[in-house]
Amino acid sequence: MIATPEINIIRSTQTKLNEIDLTNIPFGKYFSDHMLEVDYADGEWKQPVIKPYQHLSLAPSLAALHYGQAIFEGIKAYKNAAGEAFMFRPLDNFKRFNVSAERMQMPQVPEAIFMEGMRMLVELDKAWIPEQEDHALYIRPFMFSSDEMIGVRPSEQYKFMILLSPTGPYYSAPMRIYVEEKYVRAVPGGVGYAKAAGNYGAAMYATAEAKKIGYDQVLWTDAFEHKYVQECGTMNVFFIIGNHAITPELDAGTILAGVTRQSTITLLQEMGFIVEERPLSIDDIISAHKAGLLYEVFGTGTAATISLIRELRYKDYVMDFDVDKWQVAPAIKTRLNAIRYGQVADPHGWMYRV
Ligand SMILES: *Cc1c(COP(=O)(O)O)cnc(C)c1O
Repeated sequence: MIATPEINIIRSTQTKLNEIDLTNIPFGKYFSDHMLEVDYADGEWKQPVIKPYQHLSLAPSLAALHYGQAIFEGIKAYKNAAGEAFMFRPLDNFKRFNVSAERMQMPQVPEAIFMEGMRMLVELDKAWIPEQEDHALYIRPFMFSSDEMIGVRPSEQYKFMILLSPTGPYYSAPMRIYVEEKYVRAVPGGVGYAKAAGNYGAAMYATAEAKKIGYDQVLWTDAFEHKYVQECGTMNVFFIIGNHAITPELDAGTILAGVTRQSTITLLQEMGFIVEERPLSIDDIISAHKAGLLYEVFGTGTAATISLIRELRYKDYVMDFDVDKWQVAPAIKTRLNAIRYGQVADPHGWMYRV
């Protein structure tokens, strides 16, 4: 294992930046001028290199394509008014990445490669961090197995890469959510807590079924009874019930430990809510709704920050919300954004200077 790898930089001779209208960008469609690439082989990480964004040449027998040893992360970089670049809590993503790697029997990525490689890449492509309000540079670290062999076993070779993609305000209209009772996202002992590529492919069918009947996303429930809520699509979920804020606990390993989830918990506590991380059943949610105590329901994640839920449907029971009257979720979003864009103090040390 190399202690402090030198990260080589091969600069692009031109920029694609002037070809893109940064004020109107679909999520995940455009990539900056450079990317990071490093290979793992012979039990060690080789020399990382930052080079012009380009296609890869891969064998059709590439192990990742067949057996899915593939994981990723999602982080955002922001610019403050002075034009300085910061990433939001990237160390948490680094740690979570290696948790995912362990679960998928993949090598740990050293902090010196993940963190310093990411910092150098963002610094090099800093001009790609949009200046406009609500815009950011989305950072996508990922790793996949790269043996050219279709035997079923953990690969001996891997590729770790980082891409940068400028993103606009991830406008998500308040969502209509269908409580899922047939399909399952995660089971105890499974890979629900890992940001493993296969989790997303496996969720698409259920989401498509919900879309057919007019819903935007599903609220996943536990595999045994379809009673306890887990996550909403690819976001963590919060319920404001009276002066309590409740979100499913992480202990069962069926939920992704979101960085936005953790930040939201902190901000809710600062706002005076009693935050409970615990199993929450759909019956409890319906009781709270009937008692008039279910005030707000929202999802949290890096892409959209906070997504309001305007309708929640369980079987034939429909819970409608007047999201225009909500106070809590919008306040969390405003506060998080103010910290991210450096408009207020950062008392928790969440912003990491590039
Ligand atoms: C990435 C992700 C989240 C949100 O995590 P953040 O760190 O807040 O972006 C929640 N659930 C799933 C399944 C995810 O993949």
